[in-house]
Amino acid sequence: MIFRQNYPYRLLTPGPVPLHPDVEKALAEPIIHHRTPEFELCLKNVSEQMKEVFATRQPVLMHTSTGTGAMESAIVNTLSPGDEVLCVVSGKFGERWAQISQAFHLQVHTLNVEWGEAVRVHDVKTALDENPNIKAVLLQACETSTATVHPIREIASVVKSRPNTLIIVDAITAVGAMMLEMDDWHLDVVIGGSQKAFMLPTGLSFIALSEKAWRFCEASTLPKFYWDLKAEKKSWLKGETHFSSAVPLVRALHVALKFLTGPEKMKTLSRIQTLAQATREAAEPLGLRVFSKSPSPSVTALIVPERVDSQKLRDHMEREYNLTLMGGQDQLKGKILRVGHLGYITDEDMYALIDILYRSLRDLGCTEVSKSSLEQARATLEKYL
Ligand SMILES: *Cc1c(COP(=O)(O)O)cnc(C)c1O
Repeated sequence: MIFRQNYPYRLLTPGPVPLHPDVEKALAEPIIHHRTPEFELCLKNVSEQMKEVFATRQPVLMHTSTGTGAMESAIVNTLSPGDEVLCVVSGKFGERWAQISQAFHLQVHTLNVEWGEAVRVHDVKTALDENPNIKAVLLQACETSTATVHPIREIASVVKSRPNTLIIVDAITAVGAMMLEMDDWHLDVVIGGSQKAFMLPTGLSFIALSEKAWRFCEASTLPKFYWDLKAEKKSWLKGETHFSSAVPLVRALHVALKFLTGPEKMKTLSRIQTLAQATREAAEPLGLRVFSKSPSPSVTALIVPERVDSQKLRDHMEREYNLTLMGGQDQLKGKILRVGHLGYITDEDMYALIDILYRSLRDLGCTEVSKSSLEQARATLEKYL
């Protein structure tokens, strides 16, 4: 990466996200062993705080893996070969649920949803009524590839009354980023990831199971070793992780959690909301329209003008202005830009985002985007920040 003098490096993707300076400092601390009183105290504090973030009385367990590891863990711990599952597919991460399920020889029913739209609760209910043997509904709280939130609370209330069905929620861009109450909403499995709402580097995933989901674990016969959550829970009760802990990441998590718990929690959530709202509105005068019909606070997908290839725009912004955003994948490749709202994002970053979008659109020939569009976009930011 070339660091241009006028443009410090900026990372505005839905994950990884920019780190708070206190988190960076924690990551630079000298290493200690994970079986020490000092680290055990840290883990104990983290365990309590994580329950608050997930809003659950259940243990929130940790894997040293990316988020996908916890998705696999959710499946191998609760299900058995041949089980029927319902995968809500409305983007890349919904597809991933179906792929993991297939890899483990589950019988996959897919509920395909137009990309950018939220799944309809009624459609989930119908699918469950028509296929009463479905053991789990697998979906995202926020489908990051389309920046869309699904009504998981309402879907959970449909699943709740079915003793043989779980709702398994990939909440990697939701838990810690928006309201999510695992116990009150009757979510059976909730998954989080370190490089998203938890404002850490990649490398930790989090998973919590309801009492109902723990009962499914007792019956599950899919093979598991590293992912064995029953073993992980046993260690958790002793104040340890089952295998070696990722000490620097856990210590950094302890620091990041001060922004996700207690009085700071609402401030963080409302900051994320504000950044999302400001981005959506400020993008409009620049000719960028919001893609999702059910937009997420954690990430915004913007449709670029027809003449522009969003991938080229994204690459141009990175090369010329040191700003990394995400493009679209598959059917959205070349069509959308995705801007993340998680992590340590300053007001200055937001002004830079608007400024660089304006310059880059002009650089790529969108001359209709005028100086006054930029001023309008800036005025919108001023209203929010
Ligand atoms: C980032 C993300 C994941 C996990 O991706 P990893 O690269 O494995 O960390 C899964 N689901 C969603 C919705 C995500 O945003």
